Amino acid sequence: MLQHDVVIVGGGLAGSRAALEIKRLNPSIDVAVVAKTHPIRSHSVAAQGGIAASLKNVDSEDSWESHAFDTVKGSDYLADQDAVALLTQQAPDVIIDLEHLGVLFSRLDNGKIAQRAFGGHTHNRTCYAADKTGHAILHELVNNLRRNGVTIYDEWYVMQLIYEDAEAKGLVMYHIEDGTLEIIHSKVVMFATGGYGRVFNTTSNDFASTGDGLAMSALAGVPLEDMEFVQFHPTGLYPVGVLISEAVRGEGAYLINSEGRRFMEDYAPSRMELAPRDITSRAITLEIRAGRGVHPDGKPGGPCVYLDLRHMGEEKIMSRVPFCWEEAHRLVGVDAVYEPMPVRPTAHYCMGGIPVNTQGRVRLSGDRLTEGFFAAGECACVSVHGANRLGSNSLLECVVYGKITGENIAHYVKDRKFSEFDEETYLTEAKQRISSLLNKEGTIRIGALRQQFQDSMAEHCGVFRTEELMQEGIDKIQEFKAQYDNIYLDDKDSCWNTELIEAMELRNIMVVGEMILTSALNRKESRGAHSREDYTKRDDPNFLKHTLAYYSPAGLDIQYMDVVLDMFEPKERKY
Ligand SMILES: Cc1cc2nc3c(=O)[nH]c(=O)nc-3n(C[C@H](O)[C@H](O)[C@H](O)COP(=O)(O)OP(=O)(O)OC[C@H]3O[C@@H](n4cnc5c(N)ncnc54)[C@H](O)[C@@H]3O)c2cc1C
Repeated sequence: MLQHDVVIVGGGLAGSRAALEIKRLNPSIDVAVVAKTHPIRSHSVAAQGGIAASLKNVDSEDSWESHAFDTVKGSDYLADQDAVALLTQQAPDVIIDLEHLGVLFSRLDNGKIAQRAFGGHTHNRTCYAADKTGHAILHELVNNLRRNGVTIYDEWYVMQLIYEDAEAKGLVMYHIEDGTLEIIHSKVVMFATGGYGRVFNTTSNDFASTGDGLAMSALAGVPLEDMEFVQFHPTGLYPVGVLISEAVRGEGAYLINSEGRRFMEDYAPSRMELAPRDITSRAITLEIRAGRGVHPDGKPGGPCVYLDLRHMGEEKIMSRVPFCWEEAHRLVGVDAVYEPMPVRPTAHYCMGGIPVNTQGRVRLSGDRLTEGFFAAGECACVSVHGANRLGSNSLLECVVYGKITGENIAHYVKDRKFSEFDEETYLTEAKQRISSLLNKEGTIRIGALRQQFQDSMAEHCGVFRTEELMQEGIDKIQEFKAQYDNIYLDDKDSCWNTELIEAMELRNIMVVGEMILTSALNRKESRGAHSREDYTKRDDPNFLKHTLAYYSPAGLDIQYMDVVLDMFEPKERKY
């Protein structure tokens, strides 16, 4: 058995920042980070456009209050405003701290950190490193983990959270390299496992974003909060779905339909292409539905619209968003200096997640906390994004709440002892689970089932939703679960058996998908990214509240939790 005071699952921005904070506050705390990828291959590395903070380097009128207001309005008033206040107040300091760690931000001529426009933000406050911001930040954070003596278990797949009587006690994990199973015993477990883009067929997320942390928490009995709110990013490159950053529109690109018109003037005349993502994704979907989409070859009536950079000129494109140019060139053969890019919405971000308070402690309900269990980053829901996240607020959340959570863990762990549990039972169950997967004699391949499931989620719980559509989706999930019992694996080996990992991930994808669909069916209103054609208006009297969904194989139990509204009164959201 392995033992560490604190074990953090996830080596992305949130997990790395938390580990660093614990070590800074108390170097004697024994901290381990476990990741199924190498930490610097976490999805955070792919973040492009930037990280928001009211540094006022470009716009002296900016303030943390203005950042907080934009965030709350963007969230369609579902964000917890105490959590948003902490996020936006601490933003400038965490950016300066990153700079001192060595992060290479892009600069203004006067040497200060450059800041660009982003959707839903009323001031130019997004700091960036060209369009490779996540890469620049994550590399420095991971370097600092090594420097501070954090133990790193990379390419270990965490299969189960050991959680008994509302207390996290450790983990069961599987070494992808050679199939070894291990139990880690710890005083504190922190999840920083990222998002679940792979629940959908078209996504900007990496292959590892399969919602493992969410599913493991739900299966252990912890609720998931606000899972109905899935962000579809407006500009996924068609047909591959990879992200073309909002930074491209922040730098001036246009969205145009088959008539060559900047159609955002019909949907958000004051913000145009820089409206929040939910509004822009709906606008693109409606244009395509109305027959004003384009085919990649330029013919009208197609499944995408155009993102047009041509007027920006080669020098600006190559200096500010070179990676986006390269993606379009490499993946679909479009040279954005001379041709528009074909784009359509792509599943991008998980607004909901494991419910935590503003100290990063995981909630068991609205008024009860778990022991020894913390979470931060995209897998967590401290609810700074509510029903719709603004671009460049997620990296910020990872860094601010990674730091806050690390700080609280460093204090919390002082008074904690290792808890007892029956290690043998967990090991035996894990061995049985693996051998039962390897020995399955069904007829269905993992890849085929996953594709059908992802197609179904896109069809039944996409940008627009209805009762009938979602109910059909939920019914299909029962069929998919039955099919999962009838899979088979070609690879029976214990060395680098990625098919086995995919089988475990697929089970998690299905749990998360069911949580999304059921939470969405129960929210009979339209708010932020949750857009229902049968309930088209926001309904504050009945639904200004957070969903808490509890998983059980027999079906989900839905409860609710109050929203913290201590700064801004809910108003109609117009742009
Ligand atoms: C293409 C793209 C561009 C983006 N651009 C921006 C941007 O410009 N600005 C912004 O604010 N946000 C952006 N986002 C969102 C932002 O990058 C993410 O929300 C954020 O980086 C998530 O960080 P994280 O630390 O929570 O998780 P991740 O970086 O996703 O890391 C998850 C970690 O958990 C580990 N893990 C997961 N499951 C297991 C398991 N079962 N066992 C072991 N380890 C596990 C993984 O190996 C990984 O180390 C972007 C997202 C994408 C997809």
